[in-house]
Amino acid sequence: MKEKIVIANWKMKLGQKESLDLAKQMKDKFKDLKNGQVVICPSFLSIPEVKKIFKGSKIKLGAQNVCSNENGANTGEISPTMLTEAGCEYVIVGHSERRNYMLENYEMIHLKLKAVLNTDKLMPIVCIGENFEERKTDRRDFVLVHQLQQSLGGLSLLQNQRIIIAYEPIWAIGSGTAIEPAEAEYAHKIIKLTLNDLFGPQIASDHFSIVYGGSITSKNVKGFVNLENTDGLLVGGASLNADEFFKVVKAVIK
Ligand code: PEP
Repeated sequence: MKEKIVIANWKMKLGQKESLDLAKQMKDKFKDLKNGQVVICPSFLSIPEVKKIFKGSKIKLGAQNVCSNENGANTGEISPTMLTEAGCEYVIVGHSERRNYMLENYEMIHLKLKAVLNTDKLMPIVCIGENFEERKTDRRDFVLVHQLQQSLGGLSLLQNQRIIIAYEPIWAIGSGTAIEPAEAEYAHKIIKLTLNDLFGPQIASDHFSIVYGGSITSKNVKGFVNLENTDGLLVGGASLNADEFFKVVKAVIK
């Protein structure tokens, strides 16, 4: 059985003081965490100070974005190695908010993914998911397969390289209503089958985890806990409150 993982995406919602206060609360809440993996993705600027707070705890650090280049004339960007130097072990790649507002496409996401894997020290969390129009017109399955092909096609993974695929239906993110767990599981099955096609069943199973993201709260989390192809969750809004996030995590990680 794969280790369960819950990832918190703080987006651009917290200033420095709020980030550090929340990090302290999280450290305290999760002091007895033994199994599973909890990953917090603060803003870039808070990462070094949050890292200091998490010292001695089992909580891991992630970033919300990364550059596809390691070094060079990339004004305003942060490289994969810079993230590892700052203490990150995970990084979100291709979040739908970046696809929508920063016009990131899957070609760019593919390059970012390659750069991240090259460091050997960062685990990418690749976001995929359909928008409302695509869902309404029954194109979800096609969209998921296409996004996976574009982002992962042509990659060959080394023994130690792992990738997390986050299925995030865009219309559910920040909406307050998660999709039905059975629908998430169906989408995860499509993802699993596509990974089997791209990499073969052994690599698909050993090197990939699949998580769901989109309006998860302590009230709806139970439905997502025991699904066959769901290894964890990506949580936005509900990760901004330590008590609420703790309840979500406790439902997933026993
Ligand atoms: C997200 O931003 O990836 C996310 C899942 O947000 P929320 O939980 O707020 O829908």
